[in-house]
Amino acid sequence: MRIDVITIFPEYLEPLRVSLLGKAADKGLLSIETHDLRQWTYDVHRTVDDTPYGGGPGMVMKAEPWALALEAVTASDDAAQPPTLVVPTPSGRPFTQAKAAELAERGHLVFACGRYEGIDRRVIDAAAETMPVEELSIGDYVLAGGEAAVLVMVEAVARLLPGVLGNAESARDDSFADGPMAGLLEGPVYTKPSEWRGRSVPPVLISGNHGAIARWRRDQALARTAANRPDLLRALDPETLDKKDRAA
Ligand code: SAM
Repeated sequence: MRIDVITIFPEYLEPLRVSLLGKAADKGLLSIETHDLRQWTYDVHRTVDDTPYGGGPGMVMKAEPWALALEAVTASDDAAQPPTLVVPTPSGRPFTQAKAAELAERGHLVFACGRYEGIDRRVIDAAAETMPVEELSIGDYVLAGGEAAVLVMVEAVARLLPGVLGNAESARDDSFADGPMAGLLEGPVYTKPSEWRGRSVPPVLISGNHGAIARWRRDQALARTAANRPDLLRALDPETLDKKDRAA
C-alpha cells in the first residue's frame, strides 16, 4: 500500500516511521511519504490560509496550494484506479474498525491534514470528481489539526495489511473486529507469572480446558461490553447470541 500525507507540519508525522509501521515499511508492505503543503505556495510568506468568506473567526486553508499538492501526489496514479483521498474532519463520518478494514483494501491513500477552520470546500468537491473522497472523524471532539487523526487512522489501517502483524489471528479477536467476537469488546488479558502481588490469574485460564476458556472469554467480553458500551450490546443481532450469552 502507498500512503501520502500532506501537511504543514511534516515533522508531526515522524512516528509513522517507528514501531509497527516502520517495520512494515522496512518489509516493503507499506510506503509512506509526507509532503509539506508549503512547497506548493509561491508567495514570499508561503501562505496557506486566508480569512473566511462570510466573516467569522479563524482562518481557512486556501484552495490553490491544496489543488497543486493533490495533483502532484496523484500524478502517477492510473485514472482507472484513482487513489482514495482521506480528509480528517470532526464533521466527517465516524472512522471505525470497519472503515479501517475497507481502507486497508485500497492501493493508495492520500491524507489531507487540515488546520485552522479547515480546507476551502471547493478542494474537496473538485477532488471528488476524479477520486473517492472519505471525510472521516476520529471522535466527537475537536483537535487543532488533522495530523494526530492521520496517525490514528494510518496505524489502524496498516495493522490490517497482510503480513504487518506477527500473528494475523490477533486482529480477528480484537474489539470491533469482524471475527468470532463480532460486536463485542475484548475482555481482560493476563500473562506470567500466575501469581503477582497477591493477585491470581483466573483459574480457568490455566485449566487447559479450551471449551471453558472460550466460554469464559466470551462471558468477559459480554460483561465488559455491557459495562462500557451498552450501545454495542443493544445493536447486536440477537441471532448471534447463544443461550449462555443471554444468561451472562
Ligand atoms: N471548524 C472545524 C469544525 O468545527 O468542524 C474544526 C477545525 S479543527 C480546529 C482543524 C482540523 O483538525 C480539521 O480540519 C481536521 O483536519 C482536524 N480535526 C479536528 N478534530 C478532528 C476529529 N475529531 N477527527 C478528525 N480530524 C479532526
